[in-house]
Amino acid sequence: MALLQISEPGQSPQPHQRKNAVGIDLGTTNSLVATVRSGSEVILPDEQGRDLLPSVVHYESEGVSCVGYEAAEHNSSDPLNTLSSIKRLLGRGVADIKTLGDSLPYEFTTDDGGMPKINTVHGAVSPIQVSSEILRKLAGRAELTLGGMLDGAVITVPAYFDDAQRQATKDAATLAGIKVLRLLNEPTAAAIAYGLDAEEFDDESQQRTIAVYDLGGGTFDISILRLSKGVFEVLATGGNSALGGDDFDHAIANWLRTELDMGETLNVYEQRVLLEVAKSTKEELSINNQVELDILDTRLVLTRDCMHQLIDDLIEQTLTACKRSMRDANIKADSIDEVVLVGGSTRMPRVAAKVSELFGLEPKCTIDPDLVVAMGAAKQADVLVGNNSTADMLLLDVIPLSLGIETMGGLTEKIIHRNTTIPVAKAQEFTTFKDGQTAMSIHVVQGDRELVSDCRSLARFELRGIPPMVAGSAKIQVSYQVDADGLLNVSARELSSGVESRIEVKPSYGLSDTEITQMLQDSFSHARDDMRLRALREQQVEADRMLEDLRAAIEKDGQSLLDESELQCLQVTLDELKQLRDNTDDHRQLAAQIEVVGKTSEEFAARRMDASIKQALAGLSLDDALK
Ligand code: ADP
Ligand code: MG
Repeated sequence: MALLQISEPGQSPQPHQRKNAVGIDLGTTNSLVATVRSGSEVILPDEQGRDLLPSVVHYESEGVSCVGYEAAEHNSSDPLNTLSSIKRLLGRGVADIKTLGDSLPYEFTTDDGGMPKINTVHGAVSPIQVSSEILRKLAGRAELTLGGMLDGAVITVPAYFDDAQRQATKDAATLAGIKVLRLLNEPTAAAIAYGLDAEEFDDESQQRTIAVYDLGGGTFDISILRLSKGVFEVLATGGNSALGGDDFDHAIANWLRTELDMGETLNVYEQRVLLEVAKSTKEELSINNQVELDILDTRLVLTRDCMHQLIDDLIEQTLTACKRSMRDANIKADSIDEVVLVGGSTRMPRVAAKVSELFGLEPKCTIDPDLVVAMGAAKQADVLVGNNSTADMLLLDVIPLSLGIETMGGLTEKIIHRNTTIPVAKAQEFTTFKDGQTAMSIHVVQGDRELVSDCRSLARFELRGIPPMVAGSAKIQVSYQVDADGLLNVSARELSSGVESRIEVKPSYGLSDTEITQMLQDSFSHARDDMRLRALREQQVEADRMLEDLRAAIEKDGQSLLDESELQCLQVTLDELKQLRDNTDDHRQLAAQIEVVGKTSEEFAARRMDASIKQALAGLSLDDALK
């Protein structure tokens, strides 16, 4: 008799089914898709065997005509409908577009939600739609090669991407029908690709500090990672999402324009042609010492040294950002153990040399700098989807700007400090300012300055239904939670009643990196002024509270408990306090007067206390009173 086989619940008799997981590097210039096969990462090429997919989408009146290399061919002939470098616009608002406008030749319109769209023959398209076309193309390529639907993808983003830019990336993936397992910072992905997490160290500290320098076509990222017992921690990130190889191309194109006497204004077509020549010249100069050009019947020679004069300033900007990140991470260049180069532009010998000089190290570049990010993403996707149960990967990223809340006097109270590793959840308790206050307005701000007006407002919401209580006795717990993708959730809860209110912060558009840099610089250069202003605001809040309390007390008990001269004396000190509160900018002077008022009103306070005890005791026996 045949025995029926019964398997244990959860233990299928079929061999373990691998899931289709990929890593996608959605680049400004080029995008790639990779997967893990037999334990190692491989790039999935297109049918012609090409790894890269240029991040270019061409539109015709019926819709998208092509994506990638084919689309890039329309660059010169149909520039307004050939969309490239769209990652620069992802999650950006109208104001950001203005500052980027010069480098992008498109016409923009703004929809009702404030999202800028690009006008094409097909109509207005959003940066999210364009990005989703690129993602769809890569997912299609992967499904064809893997022979099945995708179970999920890890998509990489620049470390400096803010909330809105990350959200926009996710939206683009959703639009393309891709399940996002996680967004991963590009430099972090590169470190994973190098397997630095699995390395054994022979020294005692068991720690390595790694700088990941990523210079692509449109973005620059620097990350300082610390590796300790197989765990990555991102100590600091910095960079500029509007700086990359494209800017080198622009610098060289400008030189060409001058040499060729082409005048100040070029049409879109001429500009594209110059940029293409500039780009190929630049790339050739990574191998050769000089390039000869025949263009518009003119013969030109560009040497490496000459090109360096055009681009050294731009390289210098990346080094400045590196130094700032090292300062943030509180480390010196000589304590960096390893430097990893990422991004096509690090193929330029000049870039590698400058980076090497800054860190005093020979940078790591054994994995192709174009492919390394996608490979790291694939490795992580494989783990997240459950294919690799032996790997335990703990990855921590950091938030670029502090997240705080507005408190009395227009001051910022930081709840999560910048460069805190994410995911993170922090809570802080606040209280009411007025007696019987039943609602509280929560204002979420981002930035490192002391005054709310110098920070960026992210969201406002109200907590209602607080039971009426004496000022200062309600306990309102405000919690900030930043998930692994860098998205912020804020909730407020009154602890005695349990009333709660929450909000997911999705700003309609994000800050540009230049703004982030500016905000940080401001916070450093204004630190002393800010502290002074903060102290002043605190004293002002204190003065207001004192004025309000004492005036109410005088109204109630002044006549009965104080004689004429005492009352007058108190009035005068109060008037002086009010006068200073409104006019002085010296917090010490205001604090001194607060103390004077405190002293002058001490006796009055004592008498009021006595009076209220007497009143409470009136008619009660001593036993009752002590109960
Ligand atoms: P992104 O991450 O922005 O998509 P990539 O990492 O693919 O960009 O890098 C693209 C940039 O690298 C382009 O500006 C390209 O010109 C530049 N690049 C690629 N190869 C070379 C090379 N050999 N020399 C100099 N620059 C290069
Ligand atoms: Mg890149």
